[in-house]
Amino acid sequence: MSDRARKPLPKPAPESVPYWEATKRHQLELPKCNACGKFWFPPSKSCPNCLAADFDFKPVSGRGKVYSFVTFHRVYHPAFAGEVPYVVAIVELEEGPRLLSNIIGIKPDAVKCEMPVKVVFDDVAENVSVPKFTPA
Ligand SMILES: [Zn+2]
Repeated sequence: MSDRARKPLPKPAPESVPYWEATKRHQLELPKCNACGKFWFPPSKSCPNCLAADFDFKPVSGRGKVYSFVTFHRVYHPAFAGEVPYVVAIVELEEGPRLLSNIIGIKPDAVKCEMPVKVVFDDVAENVSVPKFTPA
């Protein structure tokens, strides 16, 4: 596979390094506020709910539901040529935060909003695992 045909890899911002470290271990961990107790995503320097800067990354269930989705039929990057059609979805976790991800392990035309899903991890490169979701 040529370099041009490789999928782009995540480039973690400083705030999201703990998130990507956890995915390497096949764990989904999100920032959780020590002041108000809420989880949020994407990671940032303070809680978007109460603005406290006191938080830790904590495990979440990895369970949620499809909030919205779109099926890609067109190839926008050569590395995805073998994957169309594929589903890009917003998954709402049981803990509340919403993640942009893929729904895999199901035909795209069978994906529905509100469908229960659970996280799985795709080892896309050495030391890089991307969370994706599959029907629960
Ligand atoms: Zn808070």
